[in-house]
Amino acid sequence: MAEPFIHLLRTPQNYYFYDVQKNAVVRISESLYHCLLSGISDNSTETQELKKYGFLSSKHPSCIEHSCTSHIQDYLDRSLIMMTLQVTQQCNLRCDYCLYSENSNELQRHHENKHMSFETAKRAIDFLLTHSVDSSTVSIGFYGGEPLLQFPLIKKVVEYAESLFTGKIVQFNITTNATLITDEIADYLVKKRFATTISMDGPKSIQDSHRKFPDGSGTFDIVYDRIHRLIERYPNFTPFLSVNMVIDPRRPLDEPMELIKLLPDVHIMTSEIDDFYMDEKIIPCKRYREEYEYQIFLAALYALGLLEKSCVSPVVHPIISSIQNTLIRWKHYNTFPTPSAPSGPCIPGAQRLFVSVDGTMYPCERVSEVSSILSIGNIYNGFNYSASQKMLNIAKITESHCSKCWAFHFCGGCIRDTFDGSGIPSAQKRLSKCYSYRAMGDVILYGAVMLREIPLYYREQLQEATK
Ligand code: SF4
Ligand code: SF4
Repeated sequence: MAEPFIHLLRTPQNYYFYDVQKNAVVRISESLYHCLLSGISDNSTETQELKKYGFLSSKHPSCIEHSCTSHIQDYLDRSLIMMTLQVTQQCNLRCDYCLYSENSNELQRHHENKHMSFETAKRAIDFLLTHSVDSSTVSIGFYGGEPLLQFPLIKKVVEYAESLFTGKIVQFNITTNATLITDEIADYLVKKRFATTISMDGPKSIQDSHRKFPDGSGTFDIVYDRIHRLIERYPNFTPFLSVNMVIDPRRPLDEPMELIKLLPDVHIMTSEIDDFYMDEKIIPCKRYREEYEYQIFLAALYALGLLEKSCVSPVVHPIISSIQNTLIRWKHYNTFPTPSAPSGPCIPGAQRLFVSVDGTMYPCERVSEVSSILSIGNIYNGFNYSASQKMLNIAKITESHCSKCWAFHFCGGCIRDTFDGSGIPSAQKRLSKCYSYRAMGDVILYGAVMLREIPLYYREQLQEATK
């Protein structure tokens, strides 16, 4: 019998398989679980019944091809929503893990005195206008380096965009280290209802050790003061304000989380230090891993309705959403088409676009700008559709692995993860991340299965006790 395209799961209570073709989890008997585990052919009624409904198929995608490949031009020409302008490559800080800070690494650009001209910004906004026909709302973001170094340019761009977009909602956003926010700038951000994301990594001990001025002095006091002043002067602006914490997994998780107590009214998002383009790879410490696992447990309690969301660290909030989405998706499972492509890449340029200081376009700000293989065109000559198609189908470079991989629907790999500094995408680099995609797939699958199981278990216990 050809091997079924599945992934086995086992909880303390039950046995399951995840069917990749169906993208669904099925509870099975212990005996079938052991047959599947050891590859023994089984012809029980249970197996026959499952096969009747299309489960346990050994079919894999015949080749890698994303279903949107042939329509990519339509998407790119009409459905743009978010444009992020890199208004400067310069920053007034030198954070130790910042991709752009000075290091020997050739995978990413470094801080430079390059700024976007108003002419380039204007062309970019014109491009957004002509490529957002199907979008009722557009969002224009300002990114750096530190974008507030170019505050006069930002004001001109906002004024131009407001005069240009009629009949559409235009939203503005900015990601800033907050050190340059004066009262004048704060008044402006509030007046224009900028969604403002402030980068701040934790209480003083953490913030000052990572986020520093070029002379090495810490930034906690000034950033904390700026946030407090904003909240005090404009209490109604709080919904527009968020803090993005970059977590260093080499330190215990509870240390940065102290910031939540210092800023109780501010929405806090987190991400781990991104070591993808760094020379030094980040290895999480034991206490971080333990605390993280405990937070996943709390997240499960929250998802079961047994805990307030405020009791769960924001570090695992995205996992809660993934588990909940998985449970919803399982209600509508379908056999996936073949050919197909692993989850992971966005449709590059379809909804979001990053425009660098010189007008080159990239799928997003997380993609390195040092290589032309990562660009999808420029604002002067338009999209390079075939570059976008290639990025969408980046899994072709690892086709023989991906088409047999149970984590096909959980994969997070995109063009960004294939860049090793050479002029061609690297299969080896892409595959080096598989373990983390599969680990996340397991967290989501087990999380979803446990969420189904636990209420069932307690219901059965209760029935037993009240007999
Ligand atoms: S990280 Fe990758 S998938 Fe995500 S937006 Fe950027 S290019 Fe697209
Ligand atoms: S986890 Fe690895 S092998 Fe699996 S789909 Fe993603 S890139 Fe391909």
